[in-house]
Amino acid sequence: MAFIVKKNIGGREYYYLNENKRIGGKVKTKTLAYLGKNRKDAEKKAEEIINKIKNEASAKENKKIEDRTGNEDNISEYKLEHKKTSIDELANFCKAKGFIFRSSDIYGGFSGFWDFGHLGVELLKNIKDDWWNYFVRRKDNVAGIEASIISHPKTWKASGHIAGFNVNDYLVVCKKCKRSSKVDKPDLGKVKCDNCGGEYDWDSAKVVEQMFKTSVGPDKQEVYLRGETAQAMFMNFKLITQTSRMQLPFGIAQIGRCFRNEIAPRDFLFRSREFHIAEIEFFINPEETRCSLLTKKHLDLKIKFLDSESQRAEKKELKETTIGKIIKEKRLVEWHAYWLAEQILWLDTIGLKDLKIREHTKDELSHYSSATFDIDFDYSFGSKEIAGNANRGTYDLMQHQKESGENMEVFDDKAGKKVLPKVIEPTFGVERVFLALLSGNYYKNPKGETVLTLPPKLAPIKAAVFPIVKGARFEKTAGQIARNLKQEFNVLYDKSGSIGRRYARNDEIGTPFCITIDGDSLKKEDVTIRDRDTKKQIRVKISNLKDTLKKLIEAEISFDEAGKPFNF
Ligand SMILES: [Zn+2]
Repeated sequence: MAFIVKKNIGGREYYYLNENKRIGGKVKTKTLAYLGKNRKDAEKKAEEIINKIKNEASAKENKKIEDRTGNEDNISEYKLEHKKTSIDELANFCKAKGFIFRSSDIYGGFSGFWDFGHLGVELLKNIKDDWWNYFVRRKDNVAGIEASIISHPKTWKASGHIAGFNVNDYLVVCKKCKRSSKVDKPDLGKVKCDNCGGEYDWDSAKVVEQMFKTSVGPDKQEVYLRGETAQAMFMNFKLITQTSRMQLPFGIAQIGRCFRNEIAPRDFLFRSREFHIAEIEFFINPEETRCSLLTKKHLDLKIKFLDSESQRAEKKELKETTIGKIIKEKRLVEWHAYWLAEQILWLDTIGLKDLKIREHTKDELSHYSSATFDIDFDYSFGSKEIAGNANRGTYDLMQHQKESGENMEVFDDKAGKKVLPKVIEPTFGVERVFLALLSGNYYKNPKGETVLTLPPKLAPIKAAVFPIVKGARFEKTAGQIARNLKQEFNVLYDKSGSIGRRYARNDEIGTPFCITIDGDSLKKEDVTIRDRDTKKQIRVKISNLKDTLKKLIEAEISFDEAGKPFNF
C-alpha cells in the first residue's frame, strides 16, 4: 500500500508518495511520485495517484480474465453467420492466410497456374485422402493407381483428343469491347460476346490447341501433358484385372494433375491450366442392367434436378426428385445412378450440400458419352460445377483396342463369356471441392472476425496448443502435449499474444480445437479443449487427450460428450 512521507531538506518540507515492497525476503521502499511542498496538495495528489493505480490494476485483472477465457461475449448467445464472398475476396483471403498464391508471384504471377501455401497443401491433402478412403479403401471393388503424366503419343490419338478435344477451342475477339474469349467449335458464328453482348470478329477466330505439347528424348518425339486422368486407367485396365484379380464389375481410381491450355483462364481456380482430377473408371458388363450395390439409401436420395427437356425449353426451374425416380424415367442406367448417388453422398460427408444435378442435353455430350450429369455447388459467387458423371460406354476400350492391337476383353464369370466392358466415370475437380469448402464455411462471429468452419477431418490444423500461464513449467508441459499430439495430427503450438488473439488466429484458418494449459493443469493433470464453432470448453485428462481428440476429429463423439463442461 502506498503512503505519504515528509522529508526535510535544507529546512524545507518535501512530500513524496512511497510504497513498501517485499523483494527476495527483504522489505524495500520505492518512491512512486513527488507530491510537492504543501501537505494539503500532497494529500490530494496522492489520492489521485492511488486511485489511478487501483483502476489500472483492476483493468489489468479484467483483461486477464478476458484473456483466460477469450470470451467477452456470452457463449449462449454466440452465433456465427455465413458470409457471402466474391471470388476476388476469397482469392485475397487464400493469399493472406497461406492457402493459395499466384504461381511465380514475384514475377507478377503466371496466368492459369496456382501454388498451394502451407495451409492449402494440408487442406488439399486432406481432401485427397478423404476421397481416397471413401472411394478406394472402403470399397471392395475399386483399385487405385497413379500413372505418369506423359504417356505414349498414341494415347491421345486413340482417345480422340487430337482430332476432337484438342482443336475444339477457338480464340475470338469482341469487335465492341475488344475482350478475347473462348468459343467452342460448334458455336462458331453463333454466339455473342459474353462480356458485352457485342459481335465477335469471326474472320480472325483461330484454334488454340488444348493440350500442352512437349518433346521427349534426343529425337524430340512429340508428346502431350495429359488433358485428363482417364486414359491411363483404360490403358492399365487389363493389367489391373490380372494383378488385382478383380472381377467385373469393378473400378480403377486415380487422383492426379491434368493440364489444359485454357484460352482465357479466369475465375481464380475455376478455369486454370493445371489442376487435379479425382476420378473412377468403373467397368461393367454392357449387358448387365442391374446394380447389386444400389440400396434404399441411394434410391431415396433426394436431389434437385434440371433435366435436358427443361433446358431445351430454356427453363431453369429445378425439380425435386430422387435417384430412384430418375432411374425409372430411364435417364440413366442403375450403375450410373449408383455412382451419381455415391458422389452426392461423399460430398455430403464433407458438408457440401445444396447440390444441383444437371442432365446434359444431347448436343453438349462429349464425343465419348451417351449420358452425362453435372453436379453443381452453390458457391457464394454463383452456382458452378464441382463434379460430373459420364457414361462413356465401350468407346475408350474399343479405341485403345483398335490403336494398340491388344484385346481389351475380359472374361465375365457371371455371364460365362468374354466381354468388352462399358464404363461409368464419376469425376471430381479437386480444386473445386477445395473452393467449395472455403466458400461454404466462410463465417463471421459477432465481433466480425472470420471463422472458417471446416469439417475437423479436413481442417489443415487439427488443434492448437496454448500455455496460458507464463512460466517454464507450464510451457514445458504444453510443449510436451503438443509434441505428443504431433505424432498423430497436424498440431500448432502457440505461446505468443493474448489468448483471445490466439483463438481468433486459429478460428480464421479453421482450427477446430484449441487446447489450453492453465494454472490447474499441472496439479490436476488436465487441460481445456475449446470448440471453434460454439466457444464451449470442456476439461479433459491429459492422458485421454489424444484419444479424445481423435474421436472429435473423426466426429465419432459430439463435443459435449467428449469431456466435463468447463466454465470460468
Ligand atoms: Zn464484348
